[in-house]
Amino acid sequence: MIIYGTRASNIGNFEVSDSKCSYCNEGDTQRVSVFGRYFHIFWIPIFPIGKKAVAECTHCKRTIEQKEFSPQLKNQYQEIKKNAKRPFWHWLGIGLVGLFIALVLIAGLTAEKDPRKELLDRDESSMDFLPTMESDSISYKIKQVFDSFATDEINPSDFKYRTRIRDNKALILVQIPKLRNVEKEGRTEALEMIKIVTDSQKDLENKELYIGIKGLVTMMIVKTPTYEDNSKLAQTDKLYDFYGPKPMKEK
Ligand SMILES: [Zn+2]
Repeated sequence: MIIYGTRASNIGNFEVSDSKCSYCNEGDTQRVSVFGRYFHIFWIPIFPIGKKAVAECTHCKRTIEQKEFSPQLKNQYQEIKKNAKRPFWHWLGIGLVGLFIALVLIAGLTAEKDPRKELLDRDESSMDFLPTMESDSISYKIKQVFDSFATDEINPSDFKYRTRIRDNKALILVQIPKLRNVEKEGRTEALEMIKIVTDSQKDLENKELYIGIKGLVTMMIVKTPTYEDNSKLAQTDKLYDFYGPKPMKEK
């Protein structure tokens, strides 16, 4: 249930002259109280919506609403209204929303782009259906394992592969477009199939392994020396360390 509506708070009291009370006929006895109305949600002021006023006679204590004001009092009220300033909190809601939008925009503009993302994107786009022994021997062997052991349901012929070795690190990328259809345990098996190859490769001895298994669109399994996730929401950026530490922003 959302509770919303309008509320008002007193934002000023003014003595008026040249105005007679319509009840007791005394002059210069009326006092106008101005209220600032605002829209609220759960009693939190969101934005202001107009002002209203009541006049009280200091002599007979009768109060009249704005619609009962005499023409003179109405005129005076137009002047009074300008001097009745709202407190800032009547704008609290839209102020906070505006501030939030501004912060998001500033954060977006100043967020550092990680140049390693481009490198990974490039390697992902170079994944190949048919790696050869000459071009990419590790991928070639991983493909052999998948072709032998992966179930036909997930179409091993749709898989793509790419392995890169750089200094003491190796990046192993496999794309399994139907990975989303596989249960978590099945996805773990995919990782184990890759391990069969990586454990037996001389080229990969003592290398830090950065393994990414991509579904149709995003990385679903990521395993690095410091991170492992198989939750369909694996953090792709954990693979960036393959390319080295994040470069410092140039000034
Ligand atoms: Zn009066």
